[in-house]
Amino acid sequence: MNRSSETIKDKPGNNLARAVVWDGQIQIAAIISTDMVNECIQRHQMTPVAAAALGRGMMAAVFLGLNLKSNDTITLRILGNGPLGGMITQAGADHKVKGYVGNSALDLPLSAQGKLDVGAAVGNEGDLYVTKDMGLKEPYTGSCHLISGEIAEDLAYYFHQSEQCPVVVSLGVLIDVDGSCHTAAGYMIKALPGIDDTKLQALEEWLNILPPVSALADQLGNPTEMLQALFPKETLSGLTEETWSFGCDCNRQRLERLLISMGPKELNEIIEQDGKASMRCHFCGNTYDFSQEDLEALVKEIEIQKLEAASVTDVKPEA
Ligand SMILES: [Zn+2]
Repeated sequence: MNRSSETIKDKPGNNLARAVVWDGQIQIAAIISTDMVNECIQRHQMTPVAAAALGRGMMAAVFLGLNLKSNDTITLRILGNGPLGGMITQAGADHKVKGYVGNSALDLPLSAQGKLDVGAAVGNEGDLYVTKDMGLKEPYTGSCHLISGEIAEDLAYYFHQSEQCPVVVSLGVLIDVDGSCHTAAGYMIKALPGIDDTKLQALEEWLNILPPVSALADQLGNPTEMLQALFPKETLSGLTEETWSFGCDCNRQRLERLLISMGPKELNEIIEQDGKASMRCHFCGNTYDFSQEDLEALVKEIEIQKLEAASVTDVKPEA
């Protein structure tokens, strides 16, 4: 599955649409994220079931992060008892999403329905954690138990537990026989607490007769039309479109800080044993190489920082 970068289709344009329905009583969003999933397959060398799980997880992070502001990020950690070995996805206010799974080479037999068995990969026991980082000292973390490990149901349950509102989430990732993603799509329908039950029931009945979300996306081709398939066009208001894509904010400086935090003893050991260090970002797969000279410069920097810290201590007035 070693694909060249040309096979990643770059479809310009918006891939997420959102609107409100019934006087704002319901918020809806739909996404098509095929390119995002293909980028992950290529970067992480993922098997179909691992890619399907991560694709769903990344769309879940987007739905969690729809209202992020400035530099906020939201991180979804799904730690189930299945062989996938956990998954972390993160969405930012900049509309970038990234993620990885513990075991991207996981191979599992198809489910009884002939589908990629995401539930078995993730595991139906464990927990889901949502951490919202708004640049405050302590990021906020909420959690709930997993329901099925299929991710959409688990996310809906999380919303229900944390916001006491009825939510329907549908996430689907279709992988082609060549291992690439054919379609990844999802929608979320979030009702305000106290919404009329009969309206909700009618909505559920309607959703049950719709084709699966990936088939819907295949037929319609864009997220706005997906919304219009969920609700009659005239009931939608405040319709907006936006673009979400794969993106990682890792850089060399960040990894330098990580190396510095290991301390001079550890760094000197690396210099003696290997003469160099190579670090790989879990989220995007980029590697950063540090030569012996680079590492020695970092050790020196630690010494300078220590000296500076000591001088600050010296000039402190006595209490
Ligand atoms: Zn990265």
